[in-house]
Amino acid sequence: TDKHWQSAFEIVGRLREAGHEAVIVGGAVRDRLMGLPAHDVDVATAALPQEVKTIFPKTADVGIAHGTVMVLDPSPPVEVTTYRTEGIYTDHRRPDHVEYVTSLREDLRRRDFTMNAIAIRGDGSLYDPFGGEEDIRRGIIRAVGDPDERFGEDALRMLRAVRFAARTGFEIEPGTKAAISRQAASIHHVSVERIKVEMDKVWASGRAGLAAQLMAETGLAEHLPLMERAFSATNLGIWQKFGKPAETVEGWALLYLLAGFPEGNPYKLSNAEKRSVGDILKSCKIRSERPYNPMDAYRLPEHALITGAKFAHLTGKSGDPEDPGKIRSLKNGLPISSLRDLAITGNDLIGWSGKKGGPWVKEWLSNIEEAVVTGHLKNTREDIKGWFLDGIESKR
Ligand code: ATP
Ligand code: MG
Repeated sequence: TDKHWQSAFEIVGRLREAGHEAVIVGGAVRDRLMGLPAHDVDVATAALPQEVKTIFPKTADVGIAHGTVMVLDPSPPVEVTTYRTEGIYTDHRRPDHVEYVTSLREDLRRRDFTMNAIAIRGDGSLYDPFGGEEDIRRGIIRAVGDPDERFGEDALRMLRAVRFAARTGFEIEPGTKAAISRQAASIHHVSVERIKVEMDKVWASGRAGLAAQLMAETGLAEHLPLMERAFSATNLGIWQKFGKPAETVEGWALLYLLAGFPEGNPYKLSNAEKRSVGDILKSCKIRSERPYNPMDAYRLPEHALITGAKFAHLTGKSGDPEDPGKIRSLKNGLPISSLRDLAITGNDLIGWSGKKGGPWVKEWLSNIEEAVVTGHLKNTREDIKGWFLDGIESKR
């Protein structure tokens, strides 16, 4: 936001007054040149972290091992990172130790793509030694320097290229793309946690179809769990129609659906995400067979119902695309939204029947719940009492 930019420019100004070179770098610069809003604006400086901390009294050590200090005042907070290279790479992963450098060019040279290697100086002018601005203008994602070397250092960059292609609709420069095809297999060196971060951004981008196609073409999909099957040629059209999801978890749900309901949790989804994927898949299965009924609407969250219906349609299992408004009104029209909303409790049942508590209470509560949800029984104490006493009477 404008406030983030103000904060970052103020920090650059104060670092320069203290005699240190400082600029704004990274994603925010790229997004600004593309006319997109930036969420966080990062500062890079020749000053060492300790020097940054003496100039700004209010800081937090968020990434001190990588030379990053979060400056809290001025606000909103800005991450200030000392110019650095990334030392020696082993294992196709980012190194865990860094080396500080004094040259901004050196710092920009270690960055992944030309569009991410542009700096803005305190006076607003650009420092752009790798032609990032021109590449943005032409819609090109290009590795900084030799792509084979850069992907050899950190294999995640291959997936980041795809993620940026999905975000921007830009083309991956042919030499860069060819290097991804050559090195696709090395993606298995990268931790699933880092892969998940990038894939969440792919799902959110609204161009998952483009990403799926690029991953299939370059061979990245072959080397990542579930993706070879989910991104097969016959599925690409489905991803094309996936569009911009309301929640990123929809991407994982569609991946699971198209990969054939795999066991396990290869991308380390959180418990909330796993539950959400499960609910979407359940909804999709129901909607692939028949329209939703009130019990479905009662049991499953609205978002899962809507997404399940969308997927049933996308995969050709249900004729019409279901109108989300219809699903919402089915849900909103329910007489209760949970057991707590019932006009009675288990203790009422025990009192009315004169029987001792036991598993039967839960069973009856669930009978009553279903009768109320499906409209066969009114949710009042009198109606439920009558219905319940009739019921146990006839069972005797
Ligand atoms: P987003 O808008 O999604 O945050 P971003 O470009 O800011 O995109 P970050 O992951 O936040 O991406 O990284 C910030 C900057 O750090 C990038 O613009 C790039 O210059 C550099 N960078 C990040 N990850 C890598 C990497 N794996 N290899 C090289 N440079 C990287
Ligand atoms: Mg960022």
